[in-house]
Amino acid sequence: MGTSCRLVAVFEPGSSPSAAVEALDAAESELRRVEALMSTWIDASEISQLNAAPAAVEMELSGDSLSVLRSAFEIFEASDGAFDVTARPLMMLWRDAGESGVIPSAAEITVARDASRRLHFELREGGAIKRMGSARVDLGGNAKGYGIDRALEAMRAAGATAGLVDVGGDLRVFGPGPGPDERDEGRDGNAAGLVPRGWIVDVTDPRQPGRILETHRIRDRAVCTSGNYARFTEIEGQRFSHIIDPRTGEPAVGVPSVTVLANTALVADSWATALSVLGPSGLTLLPDGVDALVLTEERGSLVRHATPGFPGAE
Ligand code: AMP
Ligand code: MG
Repeated sequence: MGTSCRLVAVFEPGSSPSAAVEALDAAESELRRVEALMSTWIDASEISQLNAAPAAVEMELSGDSLSVLRSAFEIFEASDGAFDVTARPLMMLWRDAGESGVIPSAAEITVARDASRRLHFELREGGAIKRMGSARVDLGGNAKGYGIDRALEAMRAAGATAGLVDVGGDLRVFGPGPGPDERDEGRDGNAAGLVPRGWIVDVTDPRQPGRILETHRIRDRAVCTSGNYARFTEIEGQRFSHIIDPRTGEPAVGVPSVTVLANTALVADSWATALSVLGPSGLTLLPDGVDALVLTEERGSLVRHATPGFPGAE
């Protein structure tokens, strides 16, 4: 997936160390399995084969690829088309522009836009059919999240009582965080007492990565971040996001940073990309159970836009 990962598996005291090694191995295998199925950097992946397939021929797909595509198409609808895995022809056009250093012409954008349409794909029970030969999908915006979910389930199935799967800063945790329980100071009107620790997650300053803006304590959630600060290309002296706005066919003017909390990393990863296109106005489109923090920059200062359910900064 072009990045590094960090896996933590927590076991009851007295468990055999080999149980922990097995849990970590199982999680890593799941990440590699999902990458081998869905990466467009791997020619033999299922998704690369779907991309190479001619029109009107049903391509058989695994249940994994089908569920990631189904989720993508649901979020395409929910995000008013901002999250669009079928925008790969546009993504490739702008990626090539980043390499050649020349901004694409209006005619090139039109051709890529015509090939970048949700309607060019039809999902069947066991596979997918392309309606246009040049149509392509790119799961760069959500497959990593799916891999995180599968890795976490593998760890849980291997007997871990708690765990963390972090792939390049996108992550999901389950169970109490490592370390001793903590004294609850009776915030929010609760009686003070011992509460199991959460996992500590930092949100960094998009303008100064490494500088921590806020810290959250989470339990049984996924946290994914997207934004302009992490990845961009420079073409003809202008900075362009790696995220495409499928509605204009151009790189998203986007926001510096988006952090999404959801029950699954698949959902958090997808919405982080969607909100990078939509900006703060997209917060109202989020389904129940999904919360987000969008940071924008206005006259040199960062402005915080969050859903009511997004935890306040600690
Ligand atoms: P992320 O870093 O999770 O926001 O994902 C960015 C990646 O998602 C890009 O490198 C593309 O592969 C893909 N992508 C770009 N624009 C979009 C979009 N509008 N909808 C879905 N995926 C996208
Ligand atoms: Mg994403």
